[in-house]
Amino acid sequence: MTPLFPALTEAPADRPALRFGERSLTYAQLAAAAGALTGRIGEATRVAVWATPTMETAVAVVAALLAGVPAVPLNPKSGEKELGHILSDSAPDLVLTAPDDQLPAPVRSLPRLDIDVHGTGPVPEDHADDEDPALIVYTSGTTGPPKGAVIPRRAIASTLDALADAWQWTGEDVLVHGLPLFHVHGLVLGTLGPLRRGGSVRHLGRFSTQGVARELNAGATMLFGVPTMYHRIAEAVTSDPELVKALTGARLLVSGSAALPVHDHGRIATATGRRVIERYGMTETLMNTSVRADGEARPGTVGVPLPGVELRLVEEDGSEVTASDGETVGEIQVRGPNLFTEYLNRPDATAAAFTADGWFRTGDMAVRDPDGYVRIVGRKATDLIKSGGYKIGAGEIENALLEHPGVREAAVTGEPDADLGERIVAWIVPAEHLSPPSLDELADHVAQRLAPHKRPRVVHHLDALPRNDMGKIMKRALPHD
Ligand code: ATP
Ligand code: MG
Repeated sequence: MTPLFPALTEAPADRPALRFGERSLTYAQLAAAAGALTGRIGEATRVAVWATPTMETAVAVVAALLAGVPAVPLNPKSGEKELGHILSDSAPDLVLTAPDDQLPAPVRSLPRLDIDVHGTGPVPEDHADDEDPALIVYTSGTTGPPKGAVIPRRAIASTLDALADAWQWTGEDVLVHGLPLFHVHGLVLGTLGPLRRGGSVRHLGRFSTQGVARELNAGATMLFGVPTMYHRIAEAVTSDPELVKALTGARLLVSGSAALPVHDHGRIATATGRRVIERYGMTETLMNTSVRADGEARPGTVGVPLPGVELRLVEEDGSEVTASDGETVGEIQVRGPNLFTEYLNRPDATAAAFTADGWFRTGDMAVRDPDGYVRIVGRKATDLIKSGGYKIGAGEIENALLEHPGVREAAVTGEPDADLGERIVAWIVPAEHLSPPSLDELADHVAQRLAPHKRPRVVHHLDALPRNDMGKIMKRALPHD
């Protein structure tokens, strides 16, 4: 296949490629450092990368891709038990690290290769095949223990090129990045994406709204974030004129990894006149849908299938949803060049995830609006509540609860109920400085906005919702009665 990163050899030598804090590399420097590292990776069959949000991680992953050696990014915040599981499952020959990284016990048992971001070596000729595994990325573990998704080069190339089409993404774009590098959002989209286009990345190290404002006001054009980041932006825009100016001037603001609450979308739009674009993807499928740069960013929707991606909604009885009525719920199934090949060492899980004719079952439930926009209502496993004969998505109730001034964070689940089948339970973090809203108040609030059968029957107050490293709500970790 054509090289994943033609700009490494073709871009003007002094073109900026990566910046992390004070450290930066041009395309020529990145090519030299990654080229030198490929030589040192040598005959390894698989490498782990200690994926801190640093230059070293970016160089290591580029080098592994150039060497044609599959890379397994490790989350440095994982506990030893999870790291142990991932390492015994993926069996890397060595771990690539920054020289000053402190490694926990399970990782220390591997031979270590320190990354030199100032090395010099030639970019090797690309002999890899489209279907060769490029990355093994573990899913976020939101619904169960993480599974290793084997991602071929073809999927990376096709998803990045489809996004380039949807977002009019070019080498002129400069991305502001504040995400971790061990999941596809921060690694494939946020790091490999700009490098494939020949553009550049400015990584904040640690996300802050001030950092976003500084970089966008200094010429960056796009921002990728998860909903917890846009939530912080929504809180800050009311009192930070620099941030408002920055967002107003940005070319593209993209959110993904979880649903962006409609409330935050609205607050940002009101303060800046800008709408955040949502895209929907998974570790297993990379990106499936997005609002297009030239399309309408409608709150609560994830846009349309990307070029090359086939998408259908399937009901429980296996029939396809043909209505685009914004109401009929089905599971999202996708097919296309963006898909992974398998779950590592899990032929059972791989077989269960695909239909006989090759559609991947995402486990996400959605409806389609009349113009084809996909609206995710939640995950089949945790977000679809069957109550009083209705199928109700947790997401719209969460969105309604968040519109209440006394609610700062909200999660909705279903619990067994003798009468209703399941009853709707709301878990809320009350807003500071206000008295926590009562069940009756919240039930009325939801019943007026949505429908009476969507009102919560139980409300629990919490200090914080359990979230993972991507800021996703871990519903399985909510305390039980
Ligand atoms: P695990 O599979 O281990 O339980 P996970 O599904 O959270 O974890 P990822 O692959 O990182 O792991 O996340 C993909 C999921 O994130 C999707 O299946 C979907 O539920 C959710 N998601 C991603 N983008 C969006 C979005 N824009 N709106 C709503 N949900 C989204
Ligand atoms: Mg998943």
